[in-house]
Amino acid sequence: MAIRALVTGAAGFLGSHLTDRLLAEGYSVVGVDNFSTGVWQNLAHLTREPRFTLLEWDICEPMERRGDPGRVDFIFNLASPASPQDYLRLPLETLRTGSLGTQHALDLALRYEAGFLHASTSECYGDPLEHPQKEEYWGHVNPVGPRSVYDEAKRYAEALVMAYHRTRSVDTRLARIFNTYGPRLHPTDGRVMPNFLMQALRGEPLTIYGDGSQTRCFCYVSDLVEGLLRLSRASEHTPVNLGHPREITIQECAETVLEVTGSHSEITFAALPEDDPTRRCPDITKARTLLGWEPAISLRDGLERSLEFYRNWAG
Ligand code: NAD
Ligand code: UDP
Repeated sequence: MAIRALVTGAAGFLGSHLTDRLLAEGYSVVGVDNFSTGVWQNLAHLTREPRFTLLEWDICEPMERRGDPGRVDFIFNLASPASPQDYLRLPLETLRTGSLGTQHALDLALRYEAGFLHASTSECYGDPLEHPQKEEYWGHVNPVGPRSVYDEAKRYAEALVMAYHRTRSVDTRLARIFNTYGPRLHPTDGRVMPNFLMQALRGEPLTIYGDGSQTRCFCYVSDLVEGLLRLSRASEHTPVNLGHPREITIQECAETVLEVTGSHSEITFAALPEDDPTRRCPDITKARTLLGWEPAISLRDGLERSLEFYRNWAG
């Protein structure tokens, strides 16, 4: 019988790609979403897929109120606003989803003795003082700043997942995901890649926040999904970094987007958001050793693969 997976956040960027991959691997998938940041269009191609079911459910509501999805073998818990613009607009929802929502998803895993993978984040490292970031690093997070609604929800969720593993024997995994991009990353959700791509394609100025010297590492979505799948099949319970190890400045990111799109847009500078991390780079030794995983797609290649999606939006 096919493995039955439940994906929370299935209508989002990563959730919809993961759903596609699981279906391609022969799983049947129950997608769960409350459409707070996700969109129907991301799953529209699955309306006639008999192995896919969609449940409109806010995971902060107890499952019993929504109706039990039935036995599931594995839960991928991806539900959470993820873009700074979204979590600053939805601060209480973000905290509730990371805490209460994650607990409901863990209770479901407990009930069905299902495996569990939680989508955590490089934000757990905050504005890191150690570089690159290894999983053992405890991070440098402002617990009361504007980003804390996301960072602390994610850190609490990690503690909760480990407690369910240690005290309830739930078979859990923690993926610390670094910046990921690709088609379906919503063109208006405010993250840097969709912003720069849409601006470049429309001939509008690219808006660098701060002086552009801050760094990030960008992983293409299919590489990231491969990492999630491999981690789901491994039995490692402590966090594993998943991200591209090539670090670039936001200035370089803007210039690469201009090159790939062939755009003549200018670059403009705007205020740096409060607590915007200065640098980010994953040490992926653990993922390489444990999962035999590393990203295969370069930034240029990934941007080229994303162009058609953003061209359709840019009009
Ligand atoms: P996204 O906003 O595209 O997707 C999140 C999905 O979760 C949306 O469909 C949203 O409607 C749904 N959701 C939010 N709250 C919910 C709730 N209470 N109940 C049910 N559904 C809910 O974001 P994404 O980039 O696909 O991120 C997916 C996950 O991966 C998030 O947990 C995010 O924190 C994590 N992550 C993503 C990145 C990245 O670069 N994309 C990096 C680190 C971590
Ligand atoms: N950023 C930018 N211009 C934009 C959007 C974002 O310069 O139009 C910067 C942002 O300040 C941050 C980096 O790009 O330094 C990555 O931002 P994003 O919101 O994509 O993700 P983060 O890693 O901050 O969660």
